[in-house]
Amino acid sequence: MIIQLQNKINLSQREKINEAIKAINYKAAEVKTQYANYLVCIGKNDFDIRSIGSLEGVKDVHRVSESYKLVSRKWKVNHSVVDLGDGVTIGNNGLTIMAGPCSIENETQVRKIVAHLKENSIRIMRGGVFKPRSSPYAFRGLGIEGLKMFSAICRENGIKIITEVMQVSQIAEMHDYVDVFQVGARNSQNFNLLDALGEVDKPVLIKRGMSGTIDELLQSAEYIFSNGNEKLILCERGIRTFENAYRNTFDINAIQVLKDKTHLPVIADPSHGVGIRDYVSKIAMAGAVAGADGVIYEVHEIPEEAASDGQQTLNFEESKLLCQKLRMLEEVRV
Ligand code: PEP
Ligand code: MN
Repeated sequence: MIIQLQNKINLSQREKINEAIKAINYKAAEVKTQYANYLVCIGKNDFDIRSIGSLEGVKDVHRVSESYKLVSRKWKVNHSVVDLGDGVTIGNNGLTIMAGPCSIENETQVRKIVAHLKENSIRIMRGGVFKPRSSPYAFRGLGIEGLKMFSAICRENGIKIITEVMQVSQIAEMHDYVDVFQVGARNSQNFNLLDALGEVDKPVLIKRGMSGTIDELLQSAEYIFSNGNEKLILCERGIRTFENAYRNTFDINAIQVLKDKTHLPVIADPSHGVGIRDYVSKIAMAGAVAGADGVIYEVHEIPEEAASDGQQTLNFEESKLLCQKLRMLEEVRV
């Protein structure tokens, strides 16, 4: 059960609510976010929910039986919108495009990609400066200095930034330079990181783990929400299956299932989802048709020379064409 409290609740009203929760043998966890105060109550007994709903100080109350609660559509039926400011939103019935290189490499590369994004009216640039790599000898990113450069160029040009945070200690140093923190697939269940991102007042995009179930992804999102941050975006980026004809299996089903189970916006990542450049645009469109609130893909002036993930990175021409097609789909999809 979730109880949303009135903003102006007084002490005696709070005490009466606590007593009512105790009387039905439920345990309450208090959650305070940017937007509201909630009591997430866990228990087994059957009871008349009106006995809680009628109490003074209660704004709303619902039963939510899933393991995830505040991110569930049983709590909030209407889909949430994440607002990045300056007219950039995610989840507004539209299709938000985010694009950029796998890794930020140097200033020239960033400037060229920013120009490409502007030409195609893309308002959000992706790019990693802390890169999780399978091999410790592979390029691991430019680090915080790279982020400062990336951020300065994007701010100059009215472009928002999404970039991956790999550990708790990076959050503070990155904070002022990012618009959206990305939690990568490998960190999808790094609960310390999720807890810490719950205390940040910046949106977080959380990717599905490589072997993560939909339920686990939603519980990971619940970690962040229950620590105080409602500005959440989910991302399907492909899972590991027995199939090895491509890098990952993009789970198209997950898009619709997530849209049904949660009010959070859902983004498709076709680049990591399939991992093969020739197929990325088609999978991106499939994600859009399946109902994604946005698409995030990798683009580079010369994919063959990219420092990472070049094999799944579009060039500018391919990216331009994909944008045009996505915008057409945005108009016609239902
Ligand atoms: C990335 O976005 O470049 C990345 C490393 O993604 P993932 O965590 O999905 O592998
Ligand atoms: Mn990548």
